[in-house]
Amino acid sequence: MSSATPAVSKTPPTWRNWAGNQSARPHSVITPRSAEEVSSAIRKAASQGLAVKAVGAGHSFTSVANTDGVQIRPEGLTAVHALDRAAGTITVGSGMRLSDFNTLLAGYGLALTNMGDIQVQSLAGATSTGTHGTGRVSGSLAAQIRGMEIVLADGEITTCSATENAELFAGARVGLGALGVVTALTFAVEPSFLLEAHEEPMKLDAVLGSFDALCADNEHFEFYWFPHTDNCNVKRNNRIAGPAKPLSKARFLLDDELLSNGVFSLACRIGKAAPRTVPAIARLSSRALSARSYSDTSHKVFTSPRRVRFIEMEYALARADATAALAEVRAFVEASGLPINFPVEVRVAPGDDLWLSTASGRDTAYIAVHMYKGTPHERYFTEVEKIMVAHGGRPHWGKMHTRDAEYFARSYPRFADFTALRDRVDPERRFGNDYLRRVLGD
Ligand SMILES: Cc1cc2nc3c(=O)[nH]c(=O)nc-3n(C[C@H](O)[C@H](O)[C@H](O)COP(=O)(O)OP(=O)(O)OC[C@H]3O[C@@H](n4cnc5c(N)ncnc54)[C@H](O)[C@@H]3O)c2cc1C
Repeated sequence: MSSATPAVSKTPPTWRNWAGNQSARPHSVITPRSAEEVSSAIRKAASQGLAVKAVGAGHSFTSVANTDGVQIRPEGLTAVHALDRAAGTITVGSGMRLSDFNTLLAGYGLALTNMGDIQVQSLAGATSTGTHGTGRVSGSLAAQIRGMEIVLADGEITTCSATENAELFAGARVGLGALGVVTALTFAVEPSFLLEAHEEPMKLDAVLGSFDALCADNEHFEFYWFPHTDNCNVKRNNRIAGPAKPLSKARFLLDDELLSNGVFSLACRIGKAAPRTVPAIARLSSRALSARSYSDTSHKVFTSPRRVRFIEMEYALARADATAALAEVRAFVEASGLPINFPVEVRVAPGDDLWLSTASGRDTAYIAVHMYKGTPHERYFTEVEKIMVAHGGRPHWGKMHTRDAEYFARSYPRFADFTALRDRVDPERRFGNDYLRRVLGD
């Protein structure tokens, strides 16, 4: 146990997120090594009238993690607190990066059931905004949480689970950093497993026509559609007994590094300099990735390196609305003539019971639009957002959107429960920032 005096940086440099579209000038930066140090930092900030905000890996595109108050960097909170093999749970520090967590779990012969595309986020950062992958029955990272340790605005270190402080648990798993600083998380885990990935090109009409069957027939189904073309890259990941047949190093370097990162980066830069080339580049790119199958440890199949910087907006729709909404996005792209240089990604998740999860209460499909960093995205995102809103969509909390508390009050059945909980545990808005004022209200 450390003393309750955390390391403090009083003249911190400007903080920037991964995409480079958010920046903040915190008053000070604190890197606590224990929940007690988090507690003392919160109490001290309160005595100075400063806001407090924990930040993870800075991989949100919204200003959700911005603060001009005390920035808490939980990267020192990475200890393993408990491993309960019988219960199938592990409790770890909230600042651990997902990649380190995956490696740790693999060492114990364990794995998470599902995860998103990358593994660089912190555990608390990823779960706080509802980070998800794609799954027929398995949900987001937050849906795999079984318990939390969280330091509240009054400095109290508290724990919650389905049977202890159940309301806090329902709210805080996707808590947007609004309810407290999460210091430890207990995740459900299972024995390590192999996934077989099957990736192949398909025509968009064929994917949309068989969307329900593709979702039903695969444990993890997703696809990328390349705007300006009818081409998609369809990905199906399903468990197999083994043996594993990983990609050869050469194929990984060709597909995941050279084509998906190196050549794609070059294509984006050419498109940025000469927007009229974008449709031709899209036709070429969409044909460059050929069919492939391989199998590997689950987290190596779920995640891949993302080196090309972009900004993103993603909406969660009721599953039944997804194909119609995507057809409308295609019609808009074709009619507008806008040069769209990034594929559109579609994933699914089962409904869950987390109050602010984008899949709360309904089987969900996600439609994500991206643009290469530094290229105009405003009109594209605005028009796509209109389509998503018309379908009752819910934006990812960490990705670009313009919705506000009034919208969310209609969109989330338990929104009022969340804001009432926030009123109880953070009446002075110690964890507030401009983003939370917009999406949760004052
Ligand atoms: C390249 C890339 C790929 C991505 N892929 C996916 C994907 O596949 N699926 C998906 O759903 N999203 C994806 N995202 C979005 C990303 O997962 C989320 O925005 C996530 O929240 C980022 O995690 P982070 O650790 O960077 O947290 P940050 O962005 O730093 O913080 C996010 C929120 O968590 C809060 N927070 C952080 N730590 C704590 C703590 N200890 N206690 C309380 N609150 C805390 C912050 O205050 C903030 O509100 C991607 C983003 C990028 C840039």
